[in-house]
Order: sequence, then C-alpha cells, then structure tokens
Amino acid sequence: MSVERVRGSGGTQSPVTLVDSHCHLADEAFEKDLPSVVARATAAGVGAALCILSADEPAEIDRARQVSAAWPALRFAAGVHPHRAAAYAGRPADAARVAKEAARLSSAVAIGEIGLDYHYDFAPRDVQQAVFTAQIEAAVESGTPVVIHTREASADTFSILASAGRGLVRGVMHCFSGTADEAAQALALGFHISFSGILTFPKAGALRDVARTIPEDRLLVETDAPFLAPVPYRGRRNEPAWVAATLDALAACRGVPLDVMAAAVVRNFDSLFPVR
Ligand SMILES: [Zn+2]
Ligand SMILES: [Zn+2]
Repeated sequence: MSVERVRGSGGTQSPVTLVDSHCHLADEAFEKDLPSVVARATAAGVGAALCILSADEPAEIDRARQVSAAWPALRFAAGVHPHRAAAYAGRPADAARVAKEAARLSSAVAIGEIGLDYHYDFAPRDVQQAVFTAQIEAAVESGTPVVIHTREASADTFSILASAGRGLVRGVMHCFSGTADEAAQALALGFHISFSGILTFPKAGALRDVARTIPEDRLLVETDAPFLAPVPYRGRRNEPAWVAATLDALAACRGVPLDVMAAAVVRNFDSLFPVR
C-alpha cells in the first residue's frame, strides 16, 4: 500500500501524517538545499522529526539554528557519538558536560545519539563505554530520554543501559537491525525500537520477521538521513520525506493499514519525545 492509497477519494487531502524519529538535517550534506528538503518532507506529510546533533561539533550546533528556523516543527537531540569518544579518554565527565550544553543550546528533547560502535572501533572500547555511561547518567539526572547507537556491541550496550540507566532511562534503539532476542532485551528495558530504510531492503527478511513481533506502542521509523536511503532511493542522499517508504514496509510486513501504522508511530514519537 502506498501513501497515495490513504489520501482518500477527494485526491486533494494531505497525505497521512508521518514522523522521522532520526535524521541529521544539520549535517553539511543539507547545507545547500535545506528549504527544498523541508518542503518535500512537509508535502509528504512528515509533520515532525528528531534532528540528531553531534554535541562537540560547533559548526553543526550553529547550523541547528538555521535548520530550526527552516522547520519549526523539528525537535533536537544532542550527544557525543561513540565515533568521537576518543577525545574524552580519561575524562568522560567532560563528554556528558558537552552533551548537556549542546542539548541546552538546542532545547533538545533527548540526549543522543550515544552508544557503542565496535564495528568501526574509532575509539578504544573502554573509552566508548565510559563516555556512554557518563551520558546515560546525565540523562537519568535530567530525566531526558536517550537515542542509542549500537553496532556489534549489543551485550555491552544492554549491560550499561541496565546499570547506568538504573531502570530510570527511556529511549530508542535507533536504526535497529538486530535479532529477535536483542529486540526483546531492548523492550524489557522499556525501550522503543526504530526501523530505518534497511527494513525495505530485499535481503532484510529476518529483520521484517522481528518487526512483526514488536508491540505497536514501541515502534518508530526513521531515515537516518543523509544515510541509508530506503528502496527505491538506495544509493542517493536520504531525506526525511522518504521515511514514508520505511513506514510502508513496516505496515505491509505487519499487515496493518498504513494510516493505522502512521498514527501509532506519531503517538509513540510524541510520547517518547514530548516538546519540553
Ligand atoms: Zn547511529
Ligand atoms: Zn544517526
């Protein structure tokens, strides 16, 4: 089913309302044509999105102001990404401080993306863990939800979420591409699961099987734009308008009408990331 099909018989109604729970619109990839990217998102019915900011990149924090002016419905999250953790070796509290300051500057509704990435290992693992832990503790302190990036690191991610989170932190496993068992662990911690364009890939049958098992009130969808464009846009710069393709795949694999799926995802987004 496509977005067209739920537009109704009049043909002129706006499409179903969507959200993009994770995009990087303050990335320099969008610097030249941001207004048209926002216009296409709005035309596709994307009523809100969460823009992830790299807390320790001043140029990106600066661009966030322009992005916010171009799209007032946008919400922000800020955090020190695991790829950048090496700079905080021996001083993880500074990463938490930088994340909190960027969150304050951008009126962020979440801390993130934060986590562990053992695929690229750009920072030593013990440093990644310390930086992640410090930011989880900061999120618990301020009662802020978190956006988690985890790659080939699920056991350590869950153990840090459980210990540093103390059962008090909510959030989302962004760009989820794990197993049913990993999804169950995230759900048990009270987390949401966000699917990206990977869900639309022909070879992602196992992931679609997992997507069928997630309770409706824990589901989110995202683009991770400018990365990971869904079918049929693969290989191109991704953008929030294309979250519709991932929502389409999610509704289709769960066998529910697109408008029902969209309403659930919008509800979940507003409940996890309320405007502060
Ligand atoms: Zn990520
Ligand atoms: Zn991201």
